[in-house]
Amino acid sequence: MDTDTLGNEVADKFAYQPLFIQAVTEFLESITELSANFSDADWARLRRLLVPERIISFRVDWMDDTGTMQSNLGYRVQYNSALGPYKGGLRFDPSVNEDVLKFLGFEQIFKNALTGLMLGAGKGGSDFNPKGKSDNEIRSFARAFMLELQRHIGPDTDIPAGDIGVGGREIGYMYGMYKQISNKNEGVLTGKDELFGGSCGRTEATGHGVVYFAEAMVKQHGLDLATMTAVVSGSGNVAQFTARKLIELGATVLTLSDRAGYLLKTDGFTQTDVKVITEGKAVGKSLADIEIEEVEYHEGKVWSVQADAYFPCATQNELAVDDATGLVAHAKLLVEGANMPLTAEALAVVRKSDVLYAPGKASNAGGVAVSGIEMAQNAGRYAWTCEAVETELQKIITHIHKQCVRCGKNGDQVDYVKGANIAGFVRVFNAMKKLGI
Ligand code: GLU
Repeated sequence: MDTDTLGNEVADKFAYQPLFIQAVTEFLESITELSANFSDADWARLRRLLVPERIISFRVDWMDDTGTMQSNLGYRVQYNSALGPYKGGLRFDPSVNEDVLKFLGFEQIFKNALTGLMLGAGKGGSDFNPKGKSDNEIRSFARAFMLELQRHIGPDTDIPAGDIGVGGREIGYMYGMYKQISNKNEGVLTGKDELFGGSCGRTEATGHGVVYFAEAMVKQHGLDLATMTAVVSGSGNVAQFTARKLIELGATVLTLSDRAGYLLKTDGFTQTDVKVITEGKAVGKSLADIEIEEVEYHEGKVWSVQADAYFPCATQNELAVDDATGLVAHAKLLVEGANMPLTAEALAVVRKSDVLYAPGKASNAGGVAVSGIEMAQNAGRYAWTCEAVETELQKIITHIHKQCVRCGKNGDQVDYVKGANIAGFVRVFNAMKKLGI
């Protein structure tokens, strides 16, 4: 057996799941060398690692504001529990299907392993579109979704959190429903409000972690983030806090984007500008309708804007091969805030270039890391201070970066893709072996 043959098997069997194949192919390439010494039992175990332990799908019936019953699809992919209970976000977006959740759940295995915490991996969500829905409709859907999901999760079994389309409000509504059904305050979701067991700093954690990871990368390679211009894509939670942390550290943040276009400020956004964008988004505005002095709105993708550093923080496959070809000519750094934002072809172009590149499973692990800290606080029935959480987040990100360097060093270069995949994989694989799996 070899990784190519295994990859082809997966590609044949799941030809209808292109994102899942993309994620698996990238991973298998990284462990090709390592697998040269695999025994038959190791190959059998690797084959098992590629298959989720359980995929749950269900119907979610909810009532819209006109009194009409609506139905959506709901899912939870419980991928791997070798290191701990299943852990990962819920995504509410019309694009959600089994392919999307399998790719996200698979990536989550290695991301969660890299944090060093006791976290298995899962992912879930629904094809429900929260855009344009009233607060009442969001509440109605969230409660209906939890009515079914609650029978599959638990604080020692599976602890979901947020992702695209699921923020503090949605988590609050789902957690309220869970508490009513179970009569238990057991913190079964993370990303909760601090009023009922949430962690200080969880909202900011993914974005802050992205920038801490970028800092570690530039330090390793003798560069300085503070002197760089940065293109950030997206304008959701991850993009907002990536931008804010970059600004705090002195970098010049040129852009934020949404599905239709982007805002550009050539002198760099201020913290107040980002706040205005956050407030506009919170009331459902698109970027085209947000007015800020000296800020231009452009339609289309953001990647043609020239900068030193790029932070894709929107969604999967948002950066295509043409975008990559353009930016490698001048970029120094590309750090992923989103999960798998580069197409396979774009990734090949970036990896062949001199651009320092970090995959999301390493650079965006700050979110799930602070979720792990939230679980510890809930289990201990004690809230940590904001400073303690931020210090722990920084420690975890430094640890992830160190592991990437250790497993991905190639002369004076670091292959962060290889480093992240190998370091994450070895931890899970050893656990599976010792558990007799
Ligand atoms: N959805 C986030 C991710 O992609 C966070 C998951 C969590 O906090 O469990 O890692």
